[in-house]
Amino acid sequence: MSMREDTQWRRSYCPYCGVGCGLSVAMRGAEVVKIKGDARHPANFGEICAKAAHLVPTVGASGRLLHPHIRERRGGALRRASWPRALAYAAARLREVIAAYGPDAVAFYGSGQLLTEDYYVFNKLAKGFLGTNNFDSNSRLCMASAVAAYTAAFGADGPPVAYEDIEQADLFLIAGSNTAWCHPIISRRIEKRRQAAADARIIVIDPRRTETADLADLHLPIAPGSDIALLNAMLAMLIREGRVDERFIAEHTSGWEEARAAALQWTPDRAARVCAVPPESIIEAARMFGRSRRPLSLWSMGVNQSSSGTAKALAIINLHLATGTIGKPGCGPLALTGQPNAMGGREAGGLAHLLPGYRRVDNPHHRAETARHWGVPPERISPRPGLTAVEMFEAVAEGRVKALWIIATNPAVSMPEIDLVERALRYAQLVIVQDSYHPTDTGMFADVLLPAAQWPEKEGVMTNSERLLSLVPRLIEPAGEALQDWEIAALMARHLGFSTAFGYADSEAVFEEYKALTADTPVDIGGVSYARLRKGPLQWPCPAPEHPGTPRLYVDFNFKRAGGRARFHAAELRPTGEIPDNLFPLVLTTGRVRNQWHTMTRTGRVPALMKAAPEPYLEMHPADAAQAGVADGGFVEVRSRRGIFVAQARVTGEIARGVCFAPFHWGRGGGQFKAANNLTARSRDPISHQPELKFCAVNVTPVSRARGDADVIADSAVGRERRPPEDFSEQLAEDC
Ligand code: SF4
Repeated sequence: MSMREDTQWRRSYCPYCGVGCGLSVAMRGAEVVKIKGDARHPANFGEICAKAAHLVPTVGASGRLLHPHIRERRGGALRRASWPRALAYAAARLREVIAAYGPDAVAFYGSGQLLTEDYYVFNKLAKGFLGTNNFDSNSRLCMASAVAAYTAAFGADGPPVAYEDIEQADLFLIAGSNTAWCHPIISRRIEKRRQAAADARIIVIDPRRTETADLADLHLPIAPGSDIALLNAMLAMLIREGRVDERFIAEHTSGWEEARAAALQWTPDRAARVCAVPPESIIEAARMFGRSRRPLSLWSMGVNQSSSGTAKALAIINLHLATGTIGKPGCGPLALTGQPNAMGGREAGGLAHLLPGYRRVDNPHHRAETARHWGVPPERISPRPGLTAVEMFEAVAEGRVKALWIIATNPAVSMPEIDLVERALRYAQLVIVQDSYHPTDTGMFADVLLPAAQWPEKEGVMTNSERLLSLVPRLIEPAGEALQDWEIAALMARHLGFSTAFGYADSEAVFEEYKALTADTPVDIGGVSYARLRKGPLQWPCPAPEHPGTPRLYVDFNFKRAGGRARFHAAELRPTGEIPDNLFPLVLTTGRVRNQWHTMTRTGRVPALMKAAPEPYLEMHPADAAQAGVADGGFVEVRSRRGIFVAQARVTGEIARGVCFAPFHWGRGGGQFKAANNLTARSRDPISHQPELKFCAVNVTPVSRARGDADVIADSAVGRERRPPEDFSEQLAEDC
């Protein structure tokens, strides 16, 4: 397509996944007309995937929440309100809750979609001024286990490697990640590397034969939850065959004896029985890793979303510490974040135990430093870590938290055990939903709806999976009365009486205040500015204006733990919370489909992206299908101890026997039983508190086509009973 002369190309940044691709956006006046990859951006060098290529139809007012709304009475209607009226109403209700029950009766649930400036201002309001650490985000569902593992092993969060290591690696160990679908530009870089380097190899660990597994030289379709057995057996093989780097271990690590002893309990035969793969495959994987000079491990939700996610990530890190393959080109452990600014959220303190700059709320020095910066007394910041995502909804459902402010996310679809989430949303005294889109499954429960600006209507910084900061520019005016997320937080702060501390002129002023708090921390960005980022992205740490940024951490093997040593952790295989039995004999794992994003509030409005999977489905193995009497294409009812999911069956040999898979993108808004998270459990990792979205016990039975039809199900008596108290979507559709 040739571009008209009045077309201007502007640099921007993809709002979808943690790969963090640079975009070139064609503007004609105030209109976004085309999007392509930014050839100068080092994350993608001009390539983009279908989600970004189809951003244009998602820009503008269609499907958006355009004005504030208030529901003054439960069961009453949501009515349009002015910003001053909505803010005054919400602030008064928040003050009432705090006066009656204390600050910990308020909780904030944010999102990896937020910009760093948004995260910073919300954290400052919650932790520094209201005095509650109950600020967590949906990043808890995404990469909290990787955060916990990096911190435990290296003494600080932050992936040690850069994407440029992909072009130097000779082995890719991809665990629990359908990279080809979920991080497609990373996958393309890996494919190119393998084509360019005759010795490059790929191992994929995944119970499903995904498109990523199709790229593999060795695919290990292990039983769900058995990763630690496999990784320990691989480490044991490296030890037995003399492939460990004894000198690196002696000089730069601690905890080796315990990790070594734990690993040596796992022979290939023993691990093979647990993992349900041949012992020869485990031996081959270990030898491929041991012979590699530059192994690069990549993982995502299949590892992190587990009740032993931290231990799994630590078992991967153990392989790198044992072989000294870290802090050098082409090797190391890299967790791929799902959301575009999950990393930035971590840096700005966007989890319930954190303060900005990787500080912790339970560290008195960190509290004092942060309080000084914010101009509040140190005792204002609570020393108690706040509630994490699932705990937060449990607390609301149990009446311990009374007011919930949800920002840029849709927990009524994405959280495990949707019944619990809906119960919490009904039970809360006050639900504030701040979002760009409407209607959403979560917005249905709001007492106050606040319209937020969306890409490309807001300005700020995001950090991708390799610590690369990019500036997202504001290219058009926000739709309707929408405001930037941090602006809404600052306005509410002023309505709550904290005027002077939240009087920011613009996003850059927020960034500068945040930046000053990172000085002398692992995530020091003192040398980063909007002016520098307009010229191109930078990787932290970047402590001074002349500093070029840091592609690779720990090149001097000086880790952030005491004595500068990285720490091994003995990885113990723990049984998952829910063992399949006669009633629920199959394991359900959930995930994404190609080209869809999270709860589809944006990608679901692009017909081209819906083609691959217009409806949810259930993948199951032919032997399991035959046993259950299920035919390919027939409707099935899937039951767990928590709920029901109805979908068409895809019977395929590409999934391991005993395992089935459903995408999680659909909520109850489109049909009561379309939500895979009707089934999932809220059990979680004891360290990272990340919930187990990849493992729950289910049974599958065939249902008639009529019964499986989504409309019939949605309109069934059960469906009506479970709907929110009032479906206001029609009213708002006119009103917005
Ligand atoms: S890979 Fe991720 S960041 Fe890159 S274009 Fe696709 S969705 Fe956007």
